[in-house]
Amino acid sequence: MQRFQHYIDGAFSDAEATFQSLDPATGQPWAEMPEAREGDVDRAVTAAHRAFDAPEWAGLTASARGKLLYRLADLIAEAAPRLAELETRDTGKIIRETSAQIAYVAEYYRYYAGLADKIEGAHLPIDKPDMEVWLRREPKGVVAAIVPWNSQLFLSAVKIGPALAAGCTIVVKASEDGPAPLLEFARLVHEAGFPPGVVNILTGFGPRCGAILTAHPLVDHIAFTGGPDAARHVIRNSAENLASASLELGGKSPFIVFADADLESAANAQIAGIFAATGQSCVAGSRLIVAAEVKDRFLALLAKKAEAVAIGTPQDMATEVGPLCTARQRAKIEEVVAASVDAGATLVTGGKTPEGQGFYYPPTILDCSAVPDAPAVGTELFGPVLSVIAFDTEEDAVALANSTQYGLASGVFTRDLARAHRMVRRIKAGIVWINTYRAVSPVAPFGGHGLSGHGREGGIAAVLDYTAVKTVWLRTSDDPIPDPFIMR
Ligand code: NAD
Repeated sequence: MQRFQHYIDGAFSDAEATFQSLDPATGQPWAEMPEAREGDVDRAVTAAHRAFDAPEWAGLTASARGKLLYRLADLIAEAAPRLAELETRDTGKIIRETSAQIAYVAEYYRYYAGLADKIEGAHLPIDKPDMEVWLRREPKGVVAAIVPWNSQLFLSAVKIGPALAAGCTIVVKASEDGPAPLLEFARLVHEAGFPPGVVNILTGFGPRCGAILTAHPLVDHIAFTGGPDAARHVIRNSAENLASASLELGGKSPFIVFADADLESAANAQIAGIFAATGQSCVAGSRLIVAAEVKDRFLALLAKKAEAVAIGTPQDMATEVGPLCTARQRAKIEEVVAASVDAGATLVTGGKTPEGQGFYYPPTILDCSAVPDAPAVGTELFGPVLSVIAFDTEEDAVALANSTQYGLASGVFTRDLARAHRMVRRIKAGIVWINTYRAVSPVAPFGGHGLSGHGREGGIAAVLDYTAVKTVWLRTSDDPIPDPFIMR
């Protein structure tokens, strides 16, 4: 079995405990992972705290921080094939996706590298004579970053990149499911030459390691991606240190198809929107809301494409849908699909767990038009399951789209430009894709509201989350201060 270590204070070390990681394609253990507990977490946070003020980091210019990030980006681009193999092995995410996504992760680091020396302060036209007032944008301090199992290199890049660009230091907790690529990534951080303690990477279980990390008194900001239940714990834990927090949570995103849409194009986007990453994507377009007059035609197109999807081992470049990351996740999906069918939903395709090893589940489409409150419609399944509801009017489509407590992403397919604009205004979600789906970029903010959280990652503003404003007052008069009892 392969063994992985933590990266704390610039060195690789064993943890207080270990656990085994399973290969989702076989269900068998393949690697031994370090499990951080109280002592490891404390060591990592203390190292990040010390590194924050150390001259090796605090004394660097913003441009020098940017150069380190550029170097890291180059190393990621070089190591992408190796990292992709590891992510595929440890999470079951197909190699086709991990290869492309990790190569693109390098672009995220390049974007933040370029931002490092563009985090500007301001000068205020203050309403008092003989006074200069300006604002400095300073790094917040120690960041605790927590990521879920899917796309750990990508989801950590949108935290590590802006945090380091701003001058913070960071402790990253990889998910206990599939942590290998992030632990391996620590080698690149080391090689890039960041001073010890600036980036620390460990893994461990949420309720223990994650809870200690988010409550730690030396943590200043928490950047969390995961589900709403864990997020509630994070917020409660941070009542201890009162750290600021940004939350990127789940979704149950509507994918709306009007009768005038290019149905072939919409079907391809819907297939990608729900079956890419085997459905384990926070922005999965998991609720198809389709015009009643084209529903049958559209479902026939979708079913044909879903049944043609190549299911196989994640290591095979031809595979389009691989296993789920965990047996636990598959069990949840099986339960909700069965409950929805019992409630009156119709299986259009899929819905049957295959025989054999590995945590596989087929692309599944459930027509819930007769039972719009079926469990599959309201529950984030984080798997390859699409629920379908038909609508009659634009008003109905809006109401159905917004009938969720989540508000992360949405898709609208129509050729009517005026209608597209009306939908943009009325859909409650952080992202609206029109006649496209699942496009992301370091340049574009990403995030939601409601049960989807309240952070924004990507874009220029995201880096400001890692800074605090310091207001500086400078009196420019040499005259003695007049009446000390009057505030001026
Ligand atoms: P999860 O919430 O169970 O776990 C996420 C992370 O939180 C893990 O590292 C886990 O160890 C940690 N954690 C769990 N309990 C904790 C606690 N009490 N204190 C601190 N940390 C704790 O999520 P998951 O099942 O691994 O991932 C799936 C979820 O992530 C889905 O809801 C998905 O939509 C969401 N997600 C959101 C985005 C986004 O950007 N909005 C991206 C990817 C995934």
